Amino acid sequence: MTLSLLGSTGSIGRQALAVCEALRTSGPDRGREGTHFLPFEPGIAVLAAGRNTPLLEEQARRFLPELVCVADAEAGRALKSSLADTPVKVLCGAESILEAAVFPGADTVLNALSGISGLRPTLAALDSGKRLLLANKESLVCGGGLVTNAAKRGIIPVDSEHSAIFQCLQGGRREEVSRVILTASGGPFRDFSKEQLRSVTPEMALKHPTWRMGPKVTVDSATLLNKGLEIIEAIHLFSLRPEQTDVVLHPESIIHSMVEYTDGAVIAQLAPPDMRLPIQYALTYPARLPGPAAKLGFTARSTLTFEEPDRGRFPCLALAERAARRGGNMGAALCGAGEAAVTAFLRGECGFTEIAERVERALDDAPYIENPSVEDVLQTVNLYRW
Ligand code: MG
Repeated sequence: MTLSLLGSTGSIGRQALAVCEALRTSGPDRGREGTHFLPFEPGIAVLAAGRNTPLLEEQARRFLPELVCVADAEAGRALKSSLADTPVKVLCGAESILEAAVFPGADTVLNALSGISGLRPTLAALDSGKRLLLANKESLVCGGGLVTNAAKRGIIPVDSEHSAIFQCLQGGRREEVSRVILTASGGPFRDFSKEQLRSVTPEMALKHPTWRMGPKVTVDSATLLNKGLEIIEAIHLFSLRPEQTDVVLHPESIIHSMVEYTDGAVIAQLAPPDMRLPIQYALTYPARLPGPAAKLGFTARSTLTFEEPDRGRFPCLALAERAARRGGNMGAALCGAGEAAVTAFLRGECGFTEIAERVERALDDAPYIENPSVEDVLQTVNLYRW
């Protein structure tokens, strides 16, 4: 497998490189004749990132990809001169990320870009026939049918809940699925009152109790907008009707999601909260190989708890469910407004509870388009670049 890694300096990108390195070196039996492990040698053909040049340079020197792409043109030019002593080719500018997505020397694209910027690279990778490992949920939430129609070979999910569902779906036939149940940690403010939520600061929101992630998804986890986006992501990935999705709070983050079948049997996927596991499963699918993720200790943690999410205190979840039922370009409106509101919150320009208010206004006001084109989707998203 040769990989083009989009978003290599972000949380998922860094962990994906760690998994690739571990897969190359771990497991003394790997590839040896007479063992059931297939040789797995992930090659890194492309690294792409927004900016963060010092880390990107370190990654480029370590993995020596054929191509490095930097969205920020100035940062890209600086990287080009600092990598002049290596054979690595550097492209810069926003469009270079699309080059990374279609690079002929890679057969697989892992899209770990943050936010709506991931949509066009997702479509480009699928159009060029790449195997797509998708960590960028906004691609599916905004693009919906545009993305699934372009995906002739299917999309392998990296998001932990969707990886879990993908694994649980191997327990039965698609027509036997009654619903999928996404688990949510509930974020750091699960027990906060409405009053307390009003005084949440960016610093408080950026501390997640169980997962270490980038700032956008960490804030989205705190508002439960992330879970709402994940409902829409699941609907598109697994061809579900909105009423076949459900969310349950599960603060321990051990069960990563579940599938309920028509006979009432529920298949769950359990593991410690460690993104390296879903990343590795996507990379090696359909094989399972020894990897760096920790094993689950059942005696150390014997209690798993569940509760109903409170949509009154966390209205972003209900708003996303409304967008999911309405379909069309409402996913794009949700993403666009959500991204703009979180940016404003992190800059100190709006309060924590105002994020939901802004998203609600966006869903009320966005002109509805039933079957949006890529241009319609991007136009809907851009309505909220305030
Ligand atoms: Mg997730």
